[in-house]
Amino acid sequence: MDPVFYPGSFDPITYGHIDIIERAIKVFGFVRVVIMDNPKKSTLFTVDERIDLIRECLSPITSNFEAEKHDGLLVDYCEKTGIYTAIRGLRALTDFDYEFQMALTNKALNDKVESVLFIANVKHTFLSSSLVKEIAQFDGDISEFVPPLVAQKLKAKLII
Ligand code: ADP
Repeated sequence: MDPVFYPGSFDPITYGHIDIIERAIKVFGFVRVVIMDNPKKSTLFTVDERIDLIRECLSPITSNFEAEKHDGLLVDYCEKTGIYTAIRGLRALTDFDYEFQMALTNKALNDKVESVLFIANVKHTFLSSSLVKEIAQFDGDISEFVPPLVAQKLKAKLII
């Protein structure tokens, strides 16, 4: 099977991302989760913290993954690794516009790049890392959205 990678911010990883990863592993056998390090994008967790969270949340579920970071364009990652298939998740029509534009842009930059879109689980269609951060900020219950370790780290960062 072709190797695939799942690029994103994962700030932090949620059950929505985990669902996509588990389903992609069923289809492709192995997934490289790649934190695209964009210094211009402000994030709550550092790249290393996000990688640790991904590893700690996925390890009890599967060993068919790798978590790593990449700074630069997605096409540079593809050329560096020889892995040209990117997995993404699609929650709603609003995601579609962005994902469509990204997929076409990446293809324009390198025709070998393929984007594979997984339709979000209906349970997670509304779920995003930003929403989880907002709820956590007001000490809301995020146990249905993120694994316990992520909830703990979020609260430690956000609640004084
Ligand atoms: P980015 O900043 O690159 O969009 P994210 O970490 O927010 O990074 O998301 C990475 C990918 O995972 C995107 O394709 C996004 O649509 C998808 N995704 C995010 N949340 C969910 C979810 N709840 N269900 C399914 N896919 C999701």
